[in-house]
Amino acid sequence: MPELPEVETTRRGIIPHIVDQTIEQVIIRAPKLRWPIPKSISKHLPGQVVRSIERRAKYLLVAFDTGTLIIHLGMSGRLQALSTTTTANKHDHVDIGFKNGCWLRYTDPRRFGSILWTTDAPLEHKLLCQLGPEPFDKSFTAEFLVTRAKNKKLAVKHFIMDSKVVVGVGNIYASEALFAAEIDPRTAANQVTSQQYSLLVKHIQRILKLAIKNGGTTLKDFLDTDGNPGYFSQKLQVYGRADLNCLRCDGKITALQIGQRNTFFCPGCQH
Ligand SMILES: [Zn+2]
Repeated sequence: MPELPEVETTRRGIIPHIVDQTIEQVIIRAPKLRWPIPKSISKHLPGQVVRSIERRAKYLLVAFDTGTLIIHLGMSGRLQALSTTTTANKHDHVDIGFKNGCWLRYTDPRRFGSILWTTDAPLEHKLLCQLGPEPFDKSFTAEFLVTRAKNKKLAVKHFIMDSKVVVGVGNIYASEALFAAEIDPRTAANQVTSQQYSLLVKHIQRILKLAIKNGGTTLKDFLDTDGNPGYFSQKLQVYGRADLNCLRCDGKITALQIGQRNTFFCPGCQH
């Protein structure tokens, strides 16, 4: 599943090709994604200029003078800027052609992604208005987490993966950050100290930054054509290492489920 680093990498990758460029045509081959793609965009987007591409959580916000496209990659979506048109394959659902010859292609085998249009302030959209802060936002601090965790007895790992608390901490990043901060992922969110949350904030930011620098983590859906996992996975310290030796102590990495998600941690050095 594309996580925040992949979405940010996508944003940075397509900006040079389509910002300030004018749309010539929109081809929608398969409008049925998670929600239907509004057909009207193929009528009113041609002639319009992309003003900016921002990201909020895992949503890309493509701004025009008359509104904003809100794009989510879902489980298996991919957005590519092509320098020339190529034959569309089965899962290439949308092509947006630009006057400069570039094409923006949306591919999504599992069709859990979405492409929506709003003429209102995009951050007020119902999908976005309840999201917690960005992990790199100044407001994402230990104090903020302590306040949000008040009376919350759920496991801290589950807590930091809640997008209403903070966005972008996917399953891998949660395990990795908790390992780096030496916090047991099962600890009740309201039992984590301010000092621990401070370390956790620091490591969440560090790990996400590293992942963005490396182009995102690579998961099952993102195996290359030879079936090899991506390079960031080689830097994972704890995720996917069940029964292997801890890289920090003599203990063995334990795997269990928290909130129905695979969780990896070292009982020896995470308390
Ligand atoms: Zn250990």
